[in-house]
Amino acid sequence: MTYVGRFAPSPTGPLHFGSLLAALASYLDARAHGGRWLLRIEDLDPPREQPGASNSFPPTLEAFGLYWDDELSLQSERTDLYQDALNRLLKQGDAYPCGCSRKEIQQRTGGIVYDRYCHLYPGTKDEGPAAIRVHCPGQPVRFLDLIQGEQSFDLQQSSGDFVVLRKDGLFAYQLAVVVDDYLQGITHIVRGSDLLPETPKQIHLQDQLEFPTPRYAHIPVAANADGQKLSKQTFAKALDTERPVPQLFAALEFLNQQPDPALSDASVEELLKWAVTNWKMDQVTPRLQQLWRD
Ligand code: GLU
Repeated sequence: MTYVGRFAPSPTGPLHFGSLLAALASYLDARAHGGRWLLRIEDLDPPREQPGASNSFPPTLEAFGLYWDDELSLQSERTDLYQDALNRLLKQGDAYPCGCSRKEIQQRTGGIVYDRYCHLYPGTKDEGPAAIRVHCPGQPVRFLDLIQGEQSFDLQQSSGDFVVLRKDGLFAYQLAVVVDDYLQGITHIVRGSDLLPETPKQIHLQDQLEFPTPRYAHIPVAANADGQKLSKQTFAKALDTERPVPQLFAALEFLNQQPDPALSDASVEELLKWAVTNWKMDQVTPRLQQLWRD
């Protein structure tokens, strides 16, 4: 099997240390396997986008020596492909329109797990726009995560039937990511553990669409002392493209690759070369979160 990995950031803000961890870990794993590494910008949610973020990703990754293969891809240019997959799910009877708002679901169920109202009573809510939901599996979804170990998620309890097309007409992340990972031939997905609970939904969609399931590895996310994930919401600082080496070094330490302190004076190229040669996925701590102080 030819290894194909990817980094798939959403342009909600500039890349930060948490993004660097996902980019670096996926890059190192791909290169250590002699594989290809793709860059895909997940710009499917214009209301959440920050102007200029997409354009800043390529030069930022280049400053960190993380060169991708092929042309970078933009999800906003691939919506026909998501529509084809959606049509297929509808045709197969795996998906159905749903006009319920979050508030209505909360009022009926007291929570966020969808109660299949629109499946049980089709057509009763046909005023206004509808989302499309996919039937979730009756059995827990199990998989082996290469870092976090055996996983089992019961989607009936955590989400219920989930959304693949939003009420506002935008394709949901779950559908787009599954279609792209398949069409781009992705064999290995290395990303932050905040996406671990999304993985069973993606595996289920792969099953419905008869796509093979890639291997998954979820690295710990960087969190502050209050246990909050580093993100735009927690005011994560943008990566400093003028000083890539200290941040790459810190990312390698975070990933428990134990770089030699002498490498802190190395060039970006030397540091990455060392990191590819010495990459050990099994040294990454199998935790969901790990403390990181800037
Ligand atoms: N675009 C997603 C994010 O930035 C990541 C998608 C993925 O790696 O599957 O959180």
